[in-house]
Amino acid sequence: MDFLPFTRPSIDEETIAAVGDVLRSGWITSGPKVKELEATLSARYGGRPVRVLNSATAALEIALRLCKIGPGDEVITTPMSWVATANVILTVGAKPVFVDADPVTRNIDLNKLEAAITPKTKAIIPVDLAGLPVDRDRLYEIARRHNLRVVEDAAQAMGSNWKGREIGVDGDLISFSFHANKNITTTEGGCLVMNTEEEARLFEKLRLQGVTRFADGGMDVDVLGGKSNLTDVAAVIGIHQLRKLDGFNQQRRELAREYFRCFDRSLGCDLPVEDYEQSNWHMFQPLIPFEKFKISRAQFIEQMKAQGVGVGVHYPAMHLFTLFRELGFKEGDFPVAERIGRDTVTLPLFAAMTAADVRKVCDAVTNVLRAAQ
Ligand SMILES: *Cc1c(COP(=O)(O)O)cnc(C)c1O
Repeated sequence: MDFLPFTRPSIDEETIAAVGDVLRSGWITSGPKVKELEATLSARYGGRPVRVLNSATAALEIALRLCKIGPGDEVITTPMSWVATANVILTVGAKPVFVDADPVTRNIDLNKLEAAITPKTKAIIPVDLAGLPVDRDRLYEIARRHNLRVVEDAAQAMGSNWKGREIGVDGDLISFSFHANKNITTTEGGCLVMNTEEEARLFEKLRLQGVTRFADGGMDVDVLGGKSNLTDVAAVIGIHQLRKLDGFNQQRRELAREYFRCFDRSLGCDLPVEDYEQSNWHMFQPLIPFEKFKISRAQFIEQMKAQGVGVGVHYPAMHLFTLFRELGFKEGDFPVAERIGRDTVTLPLFAAMTAADVRKVCDAVTNVLRAAQ
């Protein structure tokens, strides 16, 4: 029996051949393929400046630096995300302020957002969990009213849209990830969509040692930059993947439809928002009320594995990680995120799956949970 992982990248032979061409070309680090990928992304996002780099984490960190955020500043985000979202706030020396998740969308609860804004608040980092977009109208209405920057952590939302406008076309600074598990990949990588060429120039410096090169071959360093440029080997994978993004996402939507068709509703699990219009279906995550079953989540994962199905967890509520507990966060602070963090399971969903695979997963869930009642 073939094991079905919870995700798997789709890399075709043409892409593999293109990687070989780059390796044989003699120019393997940042070069023409990086420029081509950036130009293609920029065209996709309405001509806005886009720059790529080796992770979305680095994109988020540089975005905060572009907003001049540092010690003494507060940045609001959700505890229900990959920990990178809050780590970057700490990296630049600012203070993360969490706002609980909405129980339906599982994204930051916009009804609770304004109460968390203080005179020290400089920015909001919304996260489109599983690709389901945060309400951009309400978010930007609040941001504008309080004069806040918005750094969109759209790592999971490439190809998602808000009311028909693709994420990245509108908005302030938007970060996407090309990690291997995302809807398209460069193995590791990410990008930032910006507003102005001036931001893009500073981004380029922060991405590579603060260096500015002059036409006469000279250079200067006038700002402290890191080392997070993307290689051409990675960029050429991105060029090929980007051509397939819309097709991949269409397939993911069809698979999500199949999940909603065949998932056993009598098990008492909370399914995600049934959105076939806006979400790119980065993940399919039921919440399983484990306290009502005789098995823990760890046992569920083990038993699903025995049936040939990989299950992930995305994510435990991050304010309960030791690093954040040491900052004073504790159990009970964000009950909605904590409940999601306890009960969430990520079932297999990736472009190369079939509807029959989805039915196999649904059957396995039913078998495992029925036996645990
Ligand atoms: C994947 C992810 C990141 C980080 O992306 P990397 O490219 O791995 O640095 C940040 N935020 C969210 C929500 C993610 O899913």
